[in-house]
Amino acid sequence: DASVGGKYDYIVVGGGTAGCILANRLTAAGDKRVLVLEAGPIDTSFNVTTPAGIARLFMSDLDWNLFSNKQEKAGQREIYLARGKLMGGSSCTNATLYLRGDASDYDEWGVAGWGAKEALEWFKKSEDNARGRSEHHGVGGVMSVEDPRYRNDLYDRFFGAAQDVGLPRNPDFNDWRFGQMGFGEFQVTQKRGVRADLYSRCLKPAMRRKNLQVEPNAVVTKVEVDKQNGELRVVGVTYAPNGKDGARVSVELAAGGEVLLSAGAVHSPHILMLSGIGPRASLQQAGVDLTIDLPAVGQHLQDHPAVLSAFRMKSEHADKAMTTKVYNKKGKVRKRTILNYLLRRRGPLTTTGCDRGAFVDTTGSGRADLQMRFPAGYALDPDGVGSYVKFAELTEKGEAWPPGITFQVIACRPKSRGSIGLKSKDPFEAPTLDPGFLTDEAGADRATLRAGLRLSRRMTTSRQLAPLLWYEGYPGPNVTSDDQLDEYISKTLHSANALVGSCRMGSPGNGSSVVGPDLAVHGVSGLRVVDASVMPVIPGGQTGAPTAMIAERAAHMILKGSSA
Ligand code: FAD
Repeated sequence: DASVGGKYDYIVVGGGTAGCILANRLTAAGDKRVLVLEAGPIDTSFNVTTPAGIARLFMSDLDWNLFSNKQEKAGQREIYLARGKLMGGSSCTNATLYLRGDASDYDEWGVAGWGAKEALEWFKKSEDNARGRSEHHGVGGVMSVEDPRYRNDLYDRFFGAAQDVGLPRNPDFNDWRFGQMGFGEFQVTQKRGVRADLYSRCLKPAMRRKNLQVEPNAVVTKVEVDKQNGELRVVGVTYAPNGKDGARVSVELAAGGEVLLSAGAVHSPHILMLSGIGPRASLQQAGVDLTIDLPAVGQHLQDHPAVLSAFRMKSEHADKAMTTKVYNKKGKVRKRTILNYLLRRRGPLTTTGCDRGAFVDTTGSGRADLQMRFPAGYALDPDGVGSYVKFAELTEKGEAWPPGITFQVIACRPKSRGSIGLKSKDPFEAPTLDPGFLTDEAGADRATLRAGLRLSRRMTTSRQLAPLLWYEGYPGPNVTSDDQLDEYISKTLHSANALVGSCRMGSPGNGSSVVGPDLAVHGVSGLRVVDASVMPVIPGGQTGAPTAMIAERAAHMILKGSSA
């Protein structure tokens, strides 16, 4: 019987998007003993289960509260990088958008067995789409996907404006027959208006299985590697129970067992480096004994950079804004809005606010480089998350949320690359995080953001939106030249929360990858990375769906004991 102190066939490090899927799949047959170690707690409170609750999760106790190092191309600012720290991981704190990118993203990975054709097969297996089964959608999988339930007249006006600037309507961004371009609704990982995170939908239902042990508040500090007959083999992990530094507990693998690192794109490479697996120089610098010199660990970090433009609406249209529908003049959530959610799972509390938008090719390359999201409310602060801080200040002064609209523009196929490094051998000290925002030499990412700001401005002159609007709040009407827009971008760039690539997959030997196509770490047996960090190139959608696709496929490979 599996219990702490016993030995496990699989130790899953991190109970996030990938970890929950692995744990469910690997325990389904009943013969494998699986332990999940998750640094955060189990939390199913209202703010987690209610999509609009995302506003209260940023920088909360359920977040790792990570910041980048000073970003040279973004005003030397340390930029907030949200990551969920609870059972379910970032699937419990994300914006719930279900967007796979397009077929070219997976062909671009260039890894045998992970091209568009195979990816599509596993996207479908990992999906439970309310639109039903089709050539591009699956039913019965772990990710519940549905159309957004909340409607607002402003969305139709946004669509009209998108049409006016020449964009086509896209009926399904995940159906690769339509391509990715155009405007429309983004499907969401929700079940009848409730967040469909991987803890509640996938791990929790498996927790009655006797062969599954789940440990919240367990911070893994090291993967233990042994040398047997001249070969390196992982034998177990060490973790700190109770979520903090202090006592350490070791757990062992059963013979032939594996440790599956699913701690996400920040912490999987961090744990590898703490275990002596990584670039020699940085490990030595931090005083960690080298086990395997693997230069690609922590390299190739990618993220989606974002900026926003925001426009105030005339006060006679205040009731159209989503923020007016949610909050009363005292800044309290309106009773009828809460009741509508509690009784019918309808209304603005079912949305994270960004489930309408567009994908645009601003360069003529034939692929979208820009994702635009359209929140039907006014951003009070250009950095994205700061709006909620500013709103609290307004509430204190007894002022309501001023009405308006926002365009969040994102470089969805960014060229910049960054890295994660070991700051200290203390596992409780965060690694150095350098997303390398806007560092691509040709300046393509910056150009995309500039084009996005200009496009949003153009859309506001459409007859759909113009009559409602009062003035441009951000960047402001005087910010027009390339230089002025660039300065605004540097000062306000924020993350669209898509960190990937820090343990990328590829073929062994060329030095640029950490894991092979079977997700096994080069140079050691009994260790795989299964999470967002293995993506060789960031896909042009959001990263939750591809992570689920990877985990679903990995579980199958692991159980089959092969690499196919
Ligand atoms: P996570 O889901 O982050 O899981 C990693 C888990 O490992 C966490 O629970 C963490 O606490 C745990 N862990 C870390 N270190 C340790 C340790 N030492 N010991 C034990 N456990 C550890 N994607 C979308 O598709 N659509 C969106 O709308 C979207 N919006 C987002 C908004 C936000 C604010 C955030 C943060 C992310 C968003 N994403 C979105 C991204 C998506 O959620 C992630 O790509 C996805 O969850 C990654 O899965 P993962 O398994 O790699 O990591």
